Amino acid sequence: CGVFGVFSPYTLDISSVVYYGLYALQHRGQESCGIVVNDDGVFTSHKDLGLVGEVFSRNILASLPSGQMAVGHVRYGTTGGTNRNNCQPIEVNHQKGKMAIAHNGNLSNAVKLRNELEMSGAIFHTTSDTETIAYIVTKERLTCGSIEEAVSRAMDVLDGAYSIVLMSPQKLICARDPYGFRPLCYGKTADGMYVAASESTALKAVGAEVIRDVLPGEILVFDRNGVVSRTEHCGKKSKKLCSFEYIYFARPDSVIDGIPVHAARFRAGEILAKHHPIEADVVIGVPDSGLDAALGYSKASGIPYAIGLIKNKYIGRTFISPGQSSRLDQVKIKLSAIEENVRGKRVVLVDDSIVRGTTSGRIVKLLRDAGAEEIYLRISSPPFLHPCYYGTDIDSEEHLIACRHSVSEIADIIGANALGYLPTEELKAMIGNGGYCSACFDGCYPTPIPSDTRKDRFE
Ligand code: 5GP
Ligand code: SF4
Ligand code: MG
Repeated sequence: CGVFGVFSPYTLDISSVVYYGLYALQHRGQESCGIVVNDDGVFTSHKDLGLVGEVFSRNILASLPSGQMAVGHVRYGTTGGTNRNNCQPIEVNHQKGKMAIAHNGNLSNAVKLRNELEMSGAIFHTTSDTETIAYIVTKERLTCGSIEEAVSRAMDVLDGAYSIVLMSPQKLICARDPYGFRPLCYGKTADGMYVAASESTALKAVGAEVIRDVLPGEILVFDRNGVVSRTEHCGKKSKKLCSFEYIYFARPDSVIDGIPVHAARFRAGEILAKHHPIEADVVIGVPDSGLDAALGYSKASGIPYAIGLIKNKYIGRTFISPGQSSRLDQVKIKLSAIEENVRGKRVVLVDDSIVRGTTSGRIVKLLRDAGAEEIYLRISSPPFLHPCYYGTDIDSEEHLIACRHSVSEIADIIGANALGYLPTEELKAMIGNGGYCSACFDGCYPTPIPSDTRKDRFE
């Protein structure tokens, strides 16, 4: 998911600011989106299934009032299905007022927390774990003096991944879980508006200068008096930023925790060239997330880079669409080959990841049909061997091709002449040693993991 929040010292057409911000975060989720505007404590919202540009037509945007604060969300569901109820930001009316919350990540103790709340009489309207966060924060708010104190107390019991942007009548609050699994940063515009977003590219899109990333475990409070940071709570943990953010999830023009995503992907390509060299005529990348690594492979190997595949720009990320059959169809209409760049050639094909293997198989076939002689597939991530519990839709073992087959078997299944993955121990060289999660590759989970992990377990 992607989250966005804005606090302005003056009243303006604030939903437009969020609209542009969410547009820049669209790659982080295409299931649904929403904006909640706060005008002197009066909340107005619009949320629906669909892309930002579809959900927020000119008329809808015009119908949202001006205000001083707003939060927004684009959803990529990892807990709870795709339905209107699960659209975010979630709004709640509680005893001390109103709150709207947008969340990126996934709680690893959501089932336990929700069961406890339900046993004490809570009734949930959605099947998303974000409502659990909302419930705990508002419950804590009953017995403490401020919303940020309630967030701080909630953070003592929440486990797993959460980058949240939350709005009370008076304040905008950002918080990042103590491991910092998901990115979150903030900045300021020349005219004094504070903006927080999942990725730096969304700050730039609305004309804000990046100030810095929100620290793991940090709470930032924006109000009329400026910004206050709180870090003395919920215990110090070592940072575990999701390494897959660099490999696939984030936009290459974003900088996360000081590391430019494009540079990390480029390095992954260079590392692949070192570990999996091959004699070939051309290096091509799978758009979009394989392109940067393909450039790195080309540079390090000296094999010329060429554009071999064109992506239809009007289609979203294939992985997002539910069901295997729709994914198959989408690959077909999404990509097509530039024949003259691959015909009769030995091709190094670079992509970011293999989950089930469907996509890679389709692309290899596409290139063969276009006349590619030999195809050497290079993947800029290690093999997926374990599910993710922190907000990426990496499935249980039975759906991960690398759990059931060796590398050479996968190459055969996909139809490539050979296959090489990024070695897990090279993630460090790719993204630096600032602390990252690599649990889906190596099984080293930073938090206790739940026993029931079905995405629809609350439904
Ligand atoms: P597959 O067809 O192997 O199941 O899917 C792999 C493809 O899905 C890759 O091309 C990757 O770019 C894309 N993809 C989209 N979303 C995700 C995600 O959340 N996880 C992974 N691993 N791949 C994803
Ligand atoms: Fe990211 Fe994998 Fe960790 Fe999930 S398990 S947070 S996808 S590195
Ligand atoms: Mg892809």
